[in-house]
Amino acid sequence: MRMTRRELLVGAGAGALGVLLVSCFPEPAPTPTTTRTPSPLPTTAVPAPAASLRSTWASDPFSRGAVSYTRIGVQGGVRDQLAAPVEDRVFFAGEATDVDAPGTILGAIRSGGSVAMRVRAAAEPGERIAVIGAGLAGAAVAAKLKDADLEVTVFEARDTVGGRTPSRSDDAWGMPVQLGGWLLPALAEGEDPAREELDLPETADLPSALWRTPEADLEAVDDAPLAAAITAAATGPTDVSLAEALTAAGADLEDPSLAALLTYLATTAGADADALSSWFPPALPSAARRAVIGDFEELIREQLSDAQLTLSSPVTRIAYDDAGVSLRLGTGESTSFDRVVVTAPLGVLQNERIEFSPPLPFAHRGAINALGMGHIESIWLRYDEPFWDTEATLWHLAGGDDDQPVRTWINLQPVTGDSILVGILGGTAAEKFAELDERDALVAALTSLSPFLPSETD
Ligand SMILES: Cc1cc2nc3c(=O)[nH]c(=O)nc-3n(C[C@H](O)[C@H](O)[C@H](O)COP(=O)(O)OP(=O)(O)OC[C@H]3O[C@@H](n4cnc5c(N)ncnc54)[C@H](O)[C@@H]3O)c2cc1C
Repeated sequence: MRMTRRELLVGAGAGALGVLLVSCFPEPAPTPTTTRTPSPLPTTAVPAPAASLRSTWASDPFSRGAVSYTRIGVQGGVRDQLAAPVEDRVFFAGEATDVDAPGTILGAIRSGGSVAMRVRAAAEPGERIAVIGAGLAGAAVAAKLKDADLEVTVFEARDTVGGRTPSRSDDAWGMPVQLGGWLLPALAEGEDPAREELDLPETADLPSALWRTPEADLEAVDDAPLAAAITAAATGPTDVSLAEALTAAGADLEDPSLAALLTYLATTAGADADALSSWFPPALPSAARRAVIGDFEELIREQLSDAQLTLSSPVTRIAYDDAGVSLRLGTGESTSFDRVVVTAPLGVLQNERIEFSPPLPFAHRGAINALGMGHIESIWLRYDEPFWDTEATLWHLAGGDDDQPVRTWINLQPVTGDSILVGILGGTAAEKFAELDERDALVAALTSLSPFLPSETD
């Protein structure tokens, strides 16, 4: 049988194709539970995977989105406003408070280190410090306060640590499944600051990229047009969106290569080019990347080892005054501390899932509402055997149809030997994908993969 990449057969009735689907963080459960739903799947030209896992961060009550981004017209200084301590009692950390690398693993870890220095400067020996959130920022705070004479208690809403870097270990996958952040910029040869400075789990390079339309391979797409448009927009009288900056610079947004580049950008920035600031643009994603293939949970638990960790304990209210802070938990209990570090995501603060008494100062509330909470979702597919024949580790789909929404793929096969493909979506595509039920999400992922079928099969 000869089959072209373009062919896709989505029909009814392949009831024998059972697929393991696990939906993460169902709303509104405060502590996510895993549900396994064997589901019949239509026949697609792309084979059904042996297993699949997907994220739904958009509806996750403890993140309400994936990453913060800077909206058009918003000054970069708002992140400093958010990071400013309130009366030296309430401190803030987390990716949204980092000016240099917001929305990233790096930014989250750095923010934890910075706030720990502020807490050390304000606190007296023996004080009790509460940390809200056991993600990368919360763990970094606890690790940096380890040898200070302070008593640290971490309250985590979920029943596990990791926040937006959850590593789900399962022998069947051969490596921890990373449904949140796990990709870093590739490093120059001989340079390894990510591991040395940040103490990350094991990483591996994703060195080679493939850009493809449904009809043919494309020349590698680089970010030169985007970088040029950002430079030109920087001298303009007002901030404009990246999309407007590109158009003003003469770029054609309909061009499949540029559209694919912007789709890739959305998978790291969490927002589309028409929502992103050109004055305070996100970092442009690098052509080659590095993936965390180790377990974030192990690292975070190690960093939290000297702190008291309280899981399944959402904090619902923070009251503060000159004397200290009082926290109310979801259970209704209240408990007192000298100071608190809030690392809950921007989406949680925007949705007022934590009440502050008295209300936060105007500058903090202004910053919380000025920043945007963007969307990234991913879907992991595990195969017994690869159906693809490329060794490229990063796949981009340019052009394609609306029924092919998953345009960025990581091929882990050359890296770990496991036949795993990871689809990533950003911006409005991610928001729409998060609304699909498990079956439709999987069909959309498989449909998106059809251009990566070998061009001829027997
Ligand atoms: C799908 C996705 C893909 C990403 N991809 C990348 C990437 O490739 N590269 C990259 O560098 N970054 C990426 N990121 C971003 C990166 O994962 C985050 O910036 C980082 O993990 C944020 O860490 P944090 O500690 O600031 O927040 P979190 O990890 O969100 O930690 C905050 C913690 O607070 C807890 N919490 C919330 N509310 C309460 C409450 N009321 N009481 C108690 N606890 C509460 C949460 O459960 C959570 O554990 C991605 C994120 C997502 C979601």
